[in-house]
Amino acid sequence: MQLYQSQELKIYNSLTGKKEIFKSINEGYVGMYVCGPTVYSYVHLGNVRTFMSFDVIFRYLKHLGYKVRYVRNITDAGHLENDADEGEDRIAKKARLEQIEPMEVVQRYTVDFHTILQKFNFLPPSIEPTATGHIIEQIEIIKDIVDKGLAYEINGSVYFDVLKFNETNNYGILSGRNIEDLIHNTRVLSGQSEKKNPQDFALWKKAEPQHIMRWPSPWGDGFPGWHLECTAMSTKYLGEQFDIHGGGMDLKFPHHECEIAQAEACNGHSPVNYWMHANMLTLNGKKMAKSTGNNILPGEIFSGNNAILSKAFAPSVVRFFILQAHYRSIFDFSNDALLASEKGFNKLMDALHCLDGLNISDSSSFDINAWKDNCYAAMNDDFNTPILISHLFEAVKHINQIKDNKATINSDDLEVLKSTMHAFIFDVLGLVDTVTTDNNDSNTLSNVIELLINLRAEARANKDFATSDKIRDELLAMGVQLKDGKEGTTFSLS
Ligand SMILES: [Zn+2]
Repeated sequence: MQLYQSQELKIYNSLTGKKEIFKSINEGYVGMYVCGPTVYSYVHLGNVRTFMSFDVIFRYLKHLGYKVRYVRNITDAGHLENDADEGEDRIAKKARLEQIEPMEVVQRYTVDFHTILQKFNFLPPSIEPTATGHIIEQIEIIKDIVDKGLAYEINGSVYFDVLKFNETNNYGILSGRNIEDLIHNTRVLSGQSEKKNPQDFALWKKAEPQHIMRWPSPWGDGFPGWHLECTAMSTKYLGEQFDIHGGGMDLKFPHHECEIAQAEACNGHSPVNYWMHANMLTLNGKKMAKSTGNNILPGEIFSGNNAILSKAFAPSVVRFFILQAHYRSIFDFSNDALLASEKGFNKLMDALHCLDGLNISDSSSFDINAWKDNCYAAMNDDFNTPILISHLFEAVKHINQIKDNKATINSDDLEVLKSTMHAFIFDVLGLVDTVTTDNNDSNTLSNVIELLINLRAEARANKDFATSDKIRDELLAMGVQLKDGKEGTTFSLS
């Protein structure tokens, strides 16, 4: 018997606005699609948060015994600068600005994306398809929608006819927008649009002569619309109807709304049973934006190399920090909150390390099975990681009491405690124990670097800047970065 058969998992479905009992289409199997990154810039922390939410969901479904096919795409073409089908392709623009091939842009930022996710201990998805690898599938879908009379060709571009679709279906079903409001609120720039109606969206865009990312099609050379790739790849790998579709909250409209319309137009039914959306991340209470400088990259957190940070933080600490908020809540990132989280993370790891040395008694002074049930109940309640973490800290309290001979545990319960702690901390939350890995080696290394930091401080006090700079630069060449702050010098390893 698998765990999922005895656990009642509830998922908040964005489509219905309710928590619903999860039932997969095929017993024991889950198909999950998550919209991946558009690879035209370094992955930012808000994206990491979204993908981390789905990494934990993937991990928990696997922990429950489901066989999960997790598809997360790479958008390497078709994503224009704005959502109204106008502007340049984001990747082509970057390639033009840097005078490199679009596929060089794609390669660089795909590698960055994978490197960062690996540092955060993400599990790789089962399939990671690209938009450019599925042009033929996308063209086939467009032909199908045109044949059904729900899309029209004009000047080499093909648009989805939203009003026609809405006569028989409900455009706006996911985002809760109704078509009258959309018509009322869509700004029409006179003479700028060739669409029949401004609500219509592009399935295929004609490539102007200077556009370098182009493919032949029945409508001439062009490129697919952004929304189409996800319909093509989810249908190809998960079928016309699958269990879970996820993404960031900002994708709900128009991207996911358009995915539903495309799939319903082709297949005559709704493509997804549970729509899930992760909320956004703010930095010091404000929306992250490159333009205002209120922005932080994951690499800057690992190195401590950003003005808002007092030191460097390990990826697992950041992961733990992010998971202390529920995926549907807005999450605020700040140095102080991260420092507090680091203390909590270390406390959790310390308690884990104590488990093997605990004294065993004849009886237990707390109900371990009730505690274990609470851990599952937290995750079964729409993947509530903050509540799960609070239960883990309840166990930390008991572990410390047992250590101080103020509480007892019998051997059977100790085994349950150990296996449950390990399962939730490492398998489900995906944390990594940074303390135990090469503990002695890293302690020695830290001591040696501290010694050099002190020697450098002495040299600076003696105005011997040649020596102090030499220590800093040579450490940097070895991958040890020093950071001078109010509370002295700290270091990070790259
Ligand atoms: Zn998508």
